[in-house]
Amino acid sequence: MVAVVRGLCCVLITMGGVEMSQAQDVERLTSSVGPVMALSDDEVLELIPTRAGLRFTGCPNCTGGTQENQLWWTIEEPHSVYCQHCDLRYPNDLYPDDQSLHVVNSRGETHEYPYWDDDDGYHHFFQAKGWYVQREYFQDVARWLAELYVATGEEKYARRSALILRRFAEVYPGYLVHFDYPFRQKILWSGEEDFPYPVPAFRAAKWSWWAYMDISEDLLKTYEVIRDSGALSADDQQLIETNLFHAMVGFINNYEPALTNMDPTLLRSLIWAGRVLHEPEYIHDAVRRIGLLTRQQFFADGAWREGAVSYHNQTTRGLGILVDLLDGYSDLPGYTTADGARFDVLDVGEQLPILGRAHEVPNLLRYPNGRVVAFHDTWAREGSEPTQRSQSAILPELGHAWLGSGEGDGQVQTHLHFSGGYGHQHRDVLGMTLFAGGQERIGDMGYTHTRYRAWTTTTLSHNTVTVDGLDQQPGSLENPSDGALTLFVPGKDDLLAVVEADGRRAYPGLVDDYRR
Ligand SMILES: [Zn+2]
Ligand SMILES: [Zn+2]
Repeated sequence: MVAVVRGLCCVLITMGGVEMSQAQDVERLTSSVGPVMALSDDEVLELIPTRAGLRFTGCPNCTGGTQENQLWWTIEEPHSVYCQHCDLRYPNDLYPDDQSLHVVNSRGETHEYPYWDDDDGYHHFFQAKGWYVQREYFQDVARWLAELYVATGEEKYARRSALILRRFAEVYPGYLVHFDYPFRQKILWSGEEDFPYPVPAFRAAKWSWWAYMDISEDLLKTYEVIRDSGALSADDQQLIETNLFHAMVGFINNYEPALTNMDPTLLRSLIWAGRVLHEPEYIHDAVRRIGLLTRQQFFADGAWREGAVSYHNQTTRGLGILVDLLDGYSDLPGYTTADGARFDVLDVGEQLPILGRAHEVPNLLRYPNGRVVAFHDTWAREGSEPTQRSQSAILPELGHAWLGSGEGDGQVQTHLHFSGGYGHQHRDVLGMTLFAGGQERIGDMGYTHTRYRAWTTTTLSHNTVTVDGLDQQPGSLENPSDGALTLFVPGKDDLLAVVEADGRRAYPGLVDDYRR
């Protein structure tokens, strides 16, 4: 998976499928790894955290930023963190981390997580935030060093990358399992507990903050490049493969597939593990799970079950990457799974016709100015090219229809939304939006990570009918709130166009008739 192509005026490096133009990238990478290359081996080892850390610890001194993401760590001042908005460094005299959680890990070592408590008794883990960023930083540096080794052939980069990788393999087994979510009290466990942990699936993680990202793709790609560089002995390789990579996959395999918009992220790293570690079972498992995801979680009209275009795009793009990654894969000669299956010149895309339909969905859900038709948790700032003309259409199984007419500046679109709730939903059945005269006249706020998020999901914040001042029911697989299309006349040219949907399941027991 690594190729170096040398030419007269430029050199292309490919690592993990990424192409770089050499001169520019070598300069950038050299500068990026500079602070780490300036340290001794022992100093580097000192800075690789023995604790996984926590991502979500906000700044109690200011109101900048969102979702407890204000603090940051840099290698220049490695023993504290600072706020990116008000510059205050933590911990400090006003916010001392004078209390601690002590948890004995799976190796019998006590891990201390110091914290400061606010008036509500909420723990702020300033130092653990530093460890979190530090761990991510050294993960990046390991990969940059590997890329530099490929680009320059200089062994010093491979040796430094190997040092980091080996250290991660030493410390990872002792990391605590943690629950790390914005504005929720963090929880630490030893890692010896039986699954399931008492939090929602994938929320107990050991490497990152969310278990979907717990197999380090960056470190796998790093290892692939430097494995045969001479910087890693056979024992080192054994340690890294067993204690780090197989252990990461083993942790994740304690979860049943959740089949969410994060599955492609998880499966991408699982496929990389299969490729790098020559473990065909990982590849077969990934292909099986891709099949489950596409068969069970898309509507027949091609829309991702959650409806929100942002999550539709995240999922379909993620699946597209998996299809490319697996393209042409063959198991080693003679290999078969326990039930006799094997892959030869794999073409997963061919088996997933729904993806073709899915790619059309964001093209359809576009206002004339190119902005996405935001509903549910869709980032309203997203979009692509303006449309040349508008016409009526439906996504009947998702539950969304629109009447459109006109060309260029004269385009008009009226959207009627009546989908259920299958994740990231708003309580917006029979919500309408209107685009006319070059602008979105009646809109949906879509997604936000600000304090207004709760408001954006309410029925009252949408252009629909709120009954008795109550929110619609949120909808789920067990209690669907989905509306039903009762009439759709697309019209053509200047002919009458009509759409009507019944949304009574959004207010069960409260309404006899709820139509628009
Ligand atoms: Zn601040
Ligand atoms: Zn909304």
